[in-house]
Amino acid sequence: MNAPAALLLPLHRKFNPPLIHTSMKKLTLMLLAICCASLLCAGELSLSSPDRRLTVIVSDSGGHASYRILYDGITFLDPSPLGFITDAGDFTRDLRLGKATGVQVIDETYSLKNIKKSQVRHLAHTVDIPFEQNGKRAFVVTFSVGNNDVAFRYTLCRTGETLCSVVRQEATGFRLPAGSTTFLCPQSPAMGGFARTTPSYETPYTPDDTPGKNGLGEGYTFPGLFRIADRGWVLISETGVDSRYCAGRLLGHADGLYTIGFPQEKEFNGNGSSSPGITLPGQTPWRTLTVGRTLAPVVETTVAFDLVEPLYEPSKEYADEYGCGTWSWIIAGDGSMNYAEQKRYIDFCAEMGYRTVLVDAWWDTRIGYEGIEELAAYARTKGVGLYLWYNSNGYWNDAPQGPRGKMDNLIRRRREMKWLQQTGIKGIKVDFFGSDKQAALQLYEEILADANDYGLLVIFHGCTLPRGWERMYPNYAASEAVLASENMNFTQSSCDAEAFNACLHPFLRNTVGSMDFGGSTLNRYYNAGNRPGGSRRVTSEVFALATAILFQSPVQHFALAPNNLTDAPAWAIDFMKGVPTTWDDTRFLDGYPGKYILLARRHGDTWYVVGVNAQKETVRLTLDLSLFEAGETVTVYDDNSRLEGRVRTARIGKRQQMSVTIPTNGGVVIHN
Ligand code: CA
Repeated sequence: MNAPAALLLPLHRKFNPPLIHTSMKKLTLMLLAICCASLLCAGELSLSSPDRRLTVIVSDSGGHASYRILYDGITFLDPSPLGFITDAGDFTRDLRLGKATGVQVIDETYSLKNIKKSQVRHLAHTVDIPFEQNGKRAFVVTFSVGNNDVAFRYTLCRTGETLCSVVRQEATGFRLPAGSTTFLCPQSPAMGGFARTTPSYETPYTPDDTPGKNGLGEGYTFPGLFRIADRGWVLISETGVDSRYCAGRLLGHADGLYTIGFPQEKEFNGNGSSSPGITLPGQTPWRTLTVGRTLAPVVETTVAFDLVEPLYEPSKEYADEYGCGTWSWIIAGDGSMNYAEQKRYIDFCAEMGYRTVLVDAWWDTRIGYEGIEELAAYARTKGVGLYLWYNSNGYWNDAPQGPRGKMDNLIRRRREMKWLQQTGIKGIKVDFFGSDKQAALQLYEEILADANDYGLLVIFHGCTLPRGWERMYPNYAASEAVLASENMNFTQSSCDAEAFNACLHPFLRNTVGSMDFGGSTLNRYYNAGNRPGGSRRVTSEVFALATAILFQSPVQHFALAPNNLTDAPAWAIDFMKGVPTTWDDTRFLDGYPGKYILLARRHGDTWYVVGVNAQKETVRLTLDLSLFEAGETVTVYDDNSRLEGRVRTARIGKRQQMSVTIPTNGGVVIHN
């Protein structure tokens, strides 16, 4: 099926004079209407990307709504179900395609300083496709097709006097072609794990697995990555999820089918419904598929941010406060939660030239509110700000860490936030949510909106995946939603798997949202004395430097300790002092999920090319470094076979290439 001719028209720019914009749009609509008429006879409708390589074909075959995806004419998604069941009816059968409307050519640019690139050009074709049931409009699917991204969402229609509905189940699915393999992490069963705080998106990935499974029985978390035989890759996720719906997961079935699952009933200790309530007319979140012949579109996608809008005005310029920080808990644990040790970390933070110290759990009883006020005043004299940890509870799990009972209730939360603002606290880290229910999404949103009223940045831990939140909530900083650095403190096996996980996140978790990993450890041992005992870091110092660039979050509290000023290589500390946390551009260079990755990020005029390797074999390759000028001098950090790092300068030659060697658990960093 060819793309409607209308969508092959030259694109207009968002900032073109309105008259041209309008006339182009009318022409587009008229031509599409003609095309749709003929297409509808066949019960199919197609929409192609601006570059015509990516095509979605929507069908009502057999009375079922479905869609499939082609790239360069090759199938990347087999016919996959659309539709849902609500309290008003079953909208999965007896469906007929209606007349498509609302065709738009989107060509807009937006700025966002907290994602993988600061200026994004969002280019896509969109169309509204209605489905009818028994002669009445059942629902509308809006498709957006960019050059490598397909996104769609439903609009639920008003029926008579009914202005609200409950969505019981979605048929929405993704059917992978035969021969595909999966890169997924299971959704945890509800009310398990530490103090009954799951699901918290802290489960391990299995790379190159076979489809047809369902994780631990509860499906998989977003995003999911699929290798489509020898054809390419598909990343599936969702965005625009807020208090108006629940967050979804992927339920695995036979024959490569994955469907949208709602939260487990037992989540949140059974409080709140698993079935989202929706106002009529109302829209579901976007489900997104990033499609590419290579992994570059997956690593570089901005689809999570393209399709959402800010939900409120920022109360201040939060981007001015992005940057690096430190936290004592990751190395020194609960024992470091006292005034003297936090003061020592403030001095360390100042010495590093960092912005903030994150004071983790138990500060309320071990330092106290007055102690925090003194600490914040002291920090201010050093040019350092504080983040404070909070328990989200509440009445939904057993996490005992304090402060508790401050973030779960609007009245107490706003009183607390007023104190935070008066004390000059920069942000909060709120932990232990453990639910994707609409009630939990409401809590996330209320914390963010209230925090904005008091000028606070917000980090979430023990939490769900952020779904477009960097753009939707201006004071949102980052989320954990990953097996983060704390696990390396807990177990040696997590240390042993550090490189493996680092080679997954840029293809999965970090593709769709800021990741608060809290890593780049330079201690050899995860204890305050940096002496043998407990878990031991097996990766190199250059690896630690590389992951500071590789993992993206606008606020980074690194797992550095004051002793690293004297026991880590001076070149490593010097690098970490100057590492940026915001990026103007990001490019995938090479790699394979779970094996190795090379990636480039630009901050201002400085390009950082970084790589890490989890394979037993040393990575040896010739890198195209045309990001740099021929003749330019660059600084290179790399490892020998014993993971001993070194720093040197090199000149970029005429061919703009460089041989790179990365041993197991090692890294490389090249910057101009
Ligand atoms: Ca955690």
